[in-house]
Amino acid sequence: MPSQVRILSAALMIKRKLHPVFEGINPEELEGPIVESSWRKPLLLLISVLLGVLIISLSFSDSLQGIIHSKTARNYQLTFPTATILFEGNTLALLQDEFIAHEDREIKACLFGRQEGSDYIIGNVEFPEIIRANVIHVVSVPCPVSTLIDLHGHPINKCLASEQDIETYSEMKQENPSLRMMIMCSSDRFALI
Ligand SMILES: [Zn+2]
Repeated sequence: MPSQVRILSAALMIKRKLHPVFEGINPEELEGPIVESSWRKPLLLLISVLLGVLIISLSFSDSLQGIIHSKTARNYQLTFPTATILFEGNTLALLQDEFIAHEDREIKACLFGRQEGSDYIIGNVEFPEIIRANVIHVVSVPCPVSTLIDLHGHPINKCLASEQDIETYSEMKQENPSLRMMIMCSSDRFALI
């Protein structure tokens, strides 16, 4: 019907008519940046939050992994799934004193004693001469070949062996196949490699 068509086209004309405020402004120019910033800011915020959570969880999981794989000394004894370490005399106290006395750097110790099956009985502890050391690194004169366990310190609750530790350990084992490596990551927490 012609009258209805006329009404409809008149309505369309009204709809297309610009508000006086927008006169001389291209609506596309006006909308462009607003549309962009409305999603860009929250998205950037979301990405930074996710990255933050990822970094925190990665560093936390390192500590957590280390704690899972390490054991606390109880009754002068460390019980690992494949080995038990028994500290005779004042050997554990010597290690604890050394650890507490050098919070500013990693410690290094050579543990001597005897192995009986899966039991490692520690009868003597020596601290080799330190060449250089800081909170995350220690270089010392090597432990003697008769060493039962090569021990070094890590920052509190960082009990996981580093790639460098694994590399050094496999090199040392070539000379002394029965050698074990231990990481001391608090005054009473140890990880056996
Ligand atoms: Zn280490």
